[in-house]
Amino acid sequence: MNYPLEVGPIRPVDEADSLLIRTTRNCPWNRCGFCVNYHGERFSIRSPEEIKRDIEAAAAYFEGHVFRRCFLQDGDSLIMNTPDLLDILQYIKTHFPELEIISSYGRTKSILGKSEKELKEICSAGLNLLYCGMESGSDDVLQLVNKGVDAAQVIEAGIRATQAGMRLSEFIILGLGGITYSEDHARSTAVALNAINPDKIRVLSLGIKEGSDLQKKWQVGEFDPLPEEQMIEEQLLLLENLDGITSHYANHHAVDLLLEVRGQLPQDKDNLLAILHRFLDLPENEKCNFIMGRRLGIYNRLDDLHDHRRYQLVEDQLEPLLRDCNTDLEVVFHSLRAKIV
Ligand code: SF4
Repeated sequence: MNYPLEVGPIRPVDEADSLLIRTTRNCPWNRCGFCVNYHGERFSIRSPEEIKRDIEAAAAYFEGHVFRRCFLQDGDSLIMNTPDLLDILQYIKTHFPELEIISSYGRTKSILGKSEKELKEICSAGLNLLYCGMESGSDDVLQLVNKGVDAAQVIEAGIRATQAGMRLSEFIILGLGGITYSEDHARSTAVALNAINPDKIRVLSLGIKEGSDLQKKWQVGEFDPLPEEQMIEEQLLLLENLDGITSHYANHHAVDLLLEVRGQLPQDKDNLLAILHRFLDLPENEKCNFIMGRRLGIYNRLDDLHDHRRYQLVEDQLEPLLRDCNTDLEVVFHSLRAKIV
């Protein structure tokens, strides 16, 4: 039997086993300089009738299967008008009564477009988790990547969502300010996260996508990507400045160099900092070996450096690159990283 409902192209990593219901198609903004997810695609909000047909089809297709989580696709379900969204949430709950979490991407502008009362109603109706692409708390960085909002709006939206009772997962992109804005990116993002205290902080490492505006900026010298090691130094500064919050912090995507940097704040903060220091304190050759090993998918964690067979495997890949003085290793690392994002 063919899958009987429409599915969008993207969902968060945490929603791998969730029921996916598509409420909108593509992204209403579609202008962030680092993002090509919906390039060339027109945004639309699906009609409640269409969405309800999909919910009925899903209920029939998955009969007997218990879902605890549902994710509303695509880029911003919160942009739907509130009565329609409430209607859809109720319809989902009726057909899937065991659901505990319904989640969606929620853009800052769309959160701010709802009143306090509306956000509470939406949360009570079941949409109790928002994934928000903060990316940075630095105005300069937000402007550089044309995010369409400033840090004050990002903070206000985050606070309003959590005050309405929603859980909030904030995405941060390491390296997004390049070399120029790295320090401000780390410090200002920490300020914004401290103000919001989201449930989850999820960091991703920048990989500049083919065809993105950021790639064009890079090509004409208006953007200097951070080398791998500096991206870890940036993360160190960010983490050092997170203070007074109780978020779960995680490098959670294959593109992140140090996946083991994940834990609960504040109690795990020192451990997480220690992992970052452990990497930064490695001898140069081991650091280089580890980065290459991660980018090739040979290593998962720092301890894998002690596996002699894997270490040698990575050395064999590195040797010809190191011999060729025309090879810029950071360019190699970046191109491997950009393929993963
Ligand atoms: S990052 Fe999010 S808001 Fe920005 S264009 Fe991509 S999908 Fe839209």
